[in-house]
Amino acid sequence: MLHNDKLEQWDRENFFHPSTHLAEFARGNLRHRVITSGSGCHIDDRDGNRMLDAFAGLYCVNVGYGRGEIAEAITAQAKELAYYHSYVGHGTEASITLAKMVLDRAPDHMSKVYFGLSGSDANETNIKLIWYYNNILGRPQKKKIISRWRGYHGSGLMTGSLTGLELFHKKFDLPLAQVLHTEAPYYFRRDNLGQSEAEFVAHCVSELEAMIHREGADTIAAFIGEPVLGTGGIVPPPAGYWPAIQAVLDRHDILLIADEVVTGFGRLGTMFGSDHYGMRPDLITIAKGLTSAYAPLSGSIVSEKMWTVLERGTDENGPIGHGWTYSAHPIGAAAGVANLELIDKLGLIENAGNIGEYLNDEMRVALGDHPRVGDIRGEGMICAVEFVADKDSRIFYDASDKIGPQISAKLLEQNSVIARAMPQGDILGFAPPFCLTRAEADQVVSATVQAVTSVL
Ligand code: PLP
Repeated sequence: MLHNDKLEQWDRENFFHPSTHLAEFARGNLRHRVITSGSGCHIDDRDGNRMLDAFAGLYCVNVGYGRGEIAEAITAQAKELAYYHSYVGHGTEASITLAKMVLDRAPDHMSKVYFGLSGSDANETNIKLIWYYNNILGRPQKKKIISRWRGYHGSGLMTGSLTGLELFHKKFDLPLAQVLHTEAPYYFRRDNLGQSEAEFVAHCVSELEAMIHREGADTIAAFIGEPVLGTGGIVPPPAGYWPAIQAVLDRHDILLIADEVVTGFGRLGTMFGSDHYGMRPDLITIAKGLTSAYAPLSGSIVSEKMWTVLERGTDENGPIGHGWTYSAHPIGAAAGVANLELIDKLGLIENAGNIGEYLNDEMRVALGDHPRVGDIRGEGMICAVEFVADKDSRIFYDASDKIGPQISAKLLEQNSVIARAMPQGDILGFAPPFCLTRAEADQVVSATVQAVTSVL
């Protein structure tokens, strides 16, 4: 434990924080906060504040903080063998066991898992595998990737391009040319208010069809989507959206990547969002929930259909030219094994489904009629409250109104509850650890009501 009076000065002078207004932080206008410990759904900071973390870090500490079983597995692995690589057929007991555990939980048609470190690098891997696949199949022109506006797929060059949020493109010369964005399945913000959910789904499908027709199906390799849009505003799809999209992709021989970095391993109350919504992906991206963030680890789960072609590719071209030093890092793998065991042992996916539904219902009861609350939506242990300037005439807040940041700041100050002001500025997000209790869910709801009432 560091007890250092200079920590704030060192922080402001030396530390480049991600996703931060750098100038405001340097000027001291953004709070410096040092988190010191955590237990269950709570974290503590260096000033002695205990907070209920209703966003599980960055929706990743799914089993909750302070799990001794995972810490012990990490320690034991570090003592016995901190590192060996996984190139040319090497592995560790932990990485091989984790691969088996992931495949046992994945949809039946999936075949192998490639381990990485972050959701971003797993999606980079996915795109490379798709390009390789189409080259081996002799269709080098089939390379474009369709993503959705409001999708979030990472911050790399390709993954930042796939991300459909302007902030992640602006001044970075993104998106790259191979990326196309189509409509988000965001029923609440539809242009045509007269549309039923089914009509809106038909509209999203026809937009996609038109894009495929315009570009030529022979130039489009894949479609990537989160089962529930996350960073783009926590938006579950309208009923029937995924089967309808899947049918279009199948018809045009376009692969599907289900980006399950947030939804994988239980957040929706089912093992994968793909199961939940009837998607049949060719690749599944996993990260956060794989280790509950006790150590960095991600994965690309590859379908049997793709695997057969990848194997053939190595017969024709030699070993696959794609590897990270830390692929399947033994410490991450040991954390993953202990994490998935704990999820099973404690029935945490079931709890995520039950308490998540309770949280969503209670939030609707408490705030559904508020004149400045436009929409409350969620699925399993994820929930969003979207604020509007005028509900009846649908006047939306601008990001510069900073309604979400004001309410989340109030929530923290008044009630020591952490919710995430989503980047759009008008949405408050909740994605607590799966071990949330009913009493904690009640606390989150009543604190949110207080914060909303004092700001709006
Ligand atoms: N994909 C999704 C759906 C995500 O939510 C995230 C991160 O929040 C990523 C990819 C990127 O993961 P990472 O931040 O680990 O690179």
